[in-house]
Amino acid sequence: MTRKDYYEILGVPRTATQEDIKRAYRKLVKEWHPDRHPENRKEAEERFKEIQEAYEVLSDPQKRAQYDRFGYVGETGGGATWQDVHAPGSIFEDFFGDFSDIFDMFFGTSRTSAGRRTTTRARRGEDIELSINITLEDAIRGRNVPLEYDRYVVCSRCNGTGAEPGTGRRTCPRCGGTGVIREEKRTFFGLFVNTYTCPVCGGEGYVVEQECPKCGGSGRVKERRRITVKVPPGVEDGARLRIKGGGNAGTNGGDYGDLYVTVRIAPDPRFERKGRDLFTTITIDHVQAALGTTVQIPTPEGYETVKIPPGTQPDTVFKLKGLGFPEVGTGRRGDLFVKVKVEIPRPSKRERRILMEIAQRRGLKVDEE
Ligand SMILES: [Zn+2]
Ligand SMILES: [Zn+2]
Repeated sequence: MTRKDYYEILGVPRTATQEDIKRAYRKLVKEWHPDRHPENRKEAEERFKEIQEAYEVLSDPQKRAQYDRFGYVGETGGGATWQDVHAPGSIFEDFFGDFSDIFDMFFGTSRTSAGRRTTTRARRGEDIELSINITLEDAIRGRNVPLEYDRYVVCSRCNGTGAEPGTGRRTCPRCGGTGVIREEKRTFFGLFVNTYTCPVCGGEGYVVEQECPKCGGSGRVKERRRITVKVPPGVEDGARLRIKGGGNAGTNGGDYGDLYVTVRIAPDPRFERKGRDLFTTITIDHVQAALGTTVQIPTPEGYETVKIPPGTQPDTVFKLKGLGFPEVGTGRRGDLFVKVKVEIPRPSKRERRILMEIAQRRGLKVDEE
């Protein structure tokens, strides 16, 4: 077993005071937190453990004195051992399970209402996702859609600190302000050392003295909000509109998240859309197709009167310029294409006589009834 120089690990002289040691430790622990070194996590974890180990010894006057004399610290006796509370055999499984449970088992829980978790790091609020339904006409013209939703805002009583005004924060009772818990277990299989984020203070080292009663210590309260969402003309189905700062409040002075509104355009069975153009179909009688007629064509915004000239063939397509979908930004609209279907009903007796007359005039061969 190699002997480590704990002073060197913490970067402090042998004459360092407890205050110096604590300061150095807190700085290093932040610097070498494995989460901050995703690219060389293994190395950071090693360093992190070393720092913990060094601090555990040097912060304890008795252990430090022993270390100064002998250059190492022997096994610390007393208290429950790992095997006392865990049946051998399941030891590995259990050891790597929920450490906060294990901690509670060994030392009893110290969680109190005042020891509730709090954080000092500013965190941005969560984004909120909502959706609105609009008609095709709304999508073409654009529309201001009123929207009501609940979100978290900064608590007005504690101004987001989570602490009752007038009370402060105190050093976390479980981790002593370090933000991490270090556990060392000696077992038949060897020494297990584990460090993890303090479950009481969430790694921040502080807890509030007295919770704000309005927000229960969270620093945020739920509030109903009414806004108007401006849906631009030409919006696509499924478009997501971002409303900056419309999400939940952050914690500890963090920014608000954003609100994302997904626009759903209700399908209109009369129209088919291809890009900026719209397609629709109308049906007229063959007599109308032959003689010509005036029809009302449905458009997304109402009806348009269109003249169908005499002798119009089935499946003829008319183009109504500028009645399609607008382009977002320019507002330039596509066209509406109208396909004419011609219906040929079975004639009545009387109609038949008229049609026969036409057939004779044109010399068309038709079946007699
Ligand atoms: Zn509050
Ligand atoms: Zn803590």
